[in-house]
Amino acid sequence: MTETFTGNKGLRLEEPLIFEMDTPGSTGVDVADPATDEIRLGDLERKSAIGLPGLSEPQVIRHYTRLSQKNYSIDAGFYPLGSCTMKYNPRLNERMARLPGFSDIHPFQPVSTVQGALELIDTLADWLKKLTGMPAVAMSPAAGAHGELCGMLSIRAALEARGDKRPVVLVPESAHGTNPATAAACGYKVEAIPGDARGRVDTKAFKERLGPDVAAVMLTNPNTCGLFETDIIDLSKAIHDAGAFFYMDGANYNAIVGRVRIADLGADAMHINLHKTFSTPHGGGGPGAGPTVLSEALAPFAPLPYVVHDDRGYRLVETELDAKAEGTEPFGRLKGFHGQFGVFVRALSYIMSMGADGLRQASGDAVLNANYLLETLKDTLTPSFEGPCMHEALFDDRFLKDTGVSTLDFAKAMIDEGYHPMTMYFPLVVHGALLMEPTETESKETLDAYVATLKDLARRARENGAEAFKAAPQFTPRRRLDETQAARKPVLRWRPEEPVQEAAE
Ligand SMILES: *Cc1c(COP(=O)(O)O)cnc(C)c1O
Repeated sequence: MTETFTGNKGLRLEEPLIFEMDTPGSTGVDVADPATDEIRLGDLERKSAIGLPGLSEPQVIRHYTRLSQKNYSIDAGFYPLGSCTMKYNPRLNERMARLPGFSDIHPFQPVSTVQGALELIDTLADWLKKLTGMPAVAMSPAAGAHGELCGMLSIRAALEARGDKRPVVLVPESAHGTNPATAAACGYKVEAIPGDARGRVDTKAFKERLGPDVAAVMLTNPNTCGLFETDIIDLSKAIHDAGAFFYMDGANYNAIVGRVRIADLGADAMHINLHKTFSTPHGGGGPGAGPTVLSEALAPFAPLPYVVHDDRGYRLVETELDAKAEGTEPFGRLKGFHGQFGVFVRALSYIMSMGADGLRQASGDAVLNANYLLETLKDTLTPSFEGPCMHEALFDDRFLKDTGVSTLDFAKAMIDEGYHPMTMYFPLVVHGALLMEPTETESKETLDAYVATLKDLARRARENGAEAFKAAPQFTPRRRLDETQAARKPVLRWRPEEPVQEAAE
């Protein structure tokens, strides 16, 4: 028997790019031969090939199905990625988003024909305002980072309106990278404030730095160490006494929804990641939605367009002139249209099917699950801070000391055990961080199996050292990538080696 080598291992098929599978002339549909067909395109007729690959329909179906199976997803298994809230996305929400009245509409339709869609945006806005206790919400931001931009541009507009240009924004060292990036994008000088030994912000250092040059403080709560900022009310008072604004990063809202009113914490603005807290599918860069709740002081500066409701029905305020008539001064516009409508439908479906009590239970269960991980792993891994956590359990790499195994090696070995790794090396304030967020949708059985795997990996690290880990992951289509090159020089586009050939006459 001759040996065949296909490069495939079992059914783990190597998948070429669709362009590499090109069989010129192959097609999924029968197209009339342009040479014999009556040409009605005149001058618009294409003169050269555009370089699309030729494939049959089964080839295309298999290609995309195989690619989809290479994606790890929450539907495929446990996904403990900290800070990202990878919870199960109920199928009910998908059913709702696919209703033709929601999925087949267009932003350019006359508003009289999309009253239901505008009502949906308004109803979701109402839930977000009630849950947070905040008077206003800008619905158009497309993600958390975009919500930060919305909040910070509102703050800048409010400061400029009172003739008080302030150059500095303070962020804690533990902040998500998007916070300083947003402040810098809005033209602010960013200053980092250290944390304390309890994993919270150093309130004293913040208060000492506050002054007439500080425009805003950006703070995440619960913070990126998975801990509630216990001094937050004291700090927000100090921020306001100094004439500055308080931006609260609400990406971790999942831990406190239904339990804490954001208005009571003194926040002026907070984005809500609908794709995290309100269970709309996300990953790989989208889709998401980052509605941003705003205080009384910031509400007038919220961006265009926004939905208003009066006895004539629902309307979109689209222009500065319209806004003037409504008594607001929008800082501008963040998106072509009114926001991520498909995400709104899913989020409202989730909220309404859970109800206020269900949301409250979800945040409680999320915190319970994280504490279960913290407690069952505390003697194997090394927790970074004392005491219970909120919705995320944070460990550092002291448990790997003298093994030669790094956090990265440990995470890669988890892939071979069938787990998506937790968040690694973030937050930056602890060494070799391992941040796990189980969410409320995982069962005790799932968590127990995960804990058993981590304990076994930790034992292997202690007993066998680095050697056993360096080869991981072994059971993936790709092994270790050059992560620096992947981030700095990503190859995002296939380029033909040869220029596309002229179409045959
Ligand atoms: C996810 C996250 C963000 C950014 O949200 P995106 O929707 O990814 O833009 C900001 N801050 C924190 C703490 C986050 O976890």
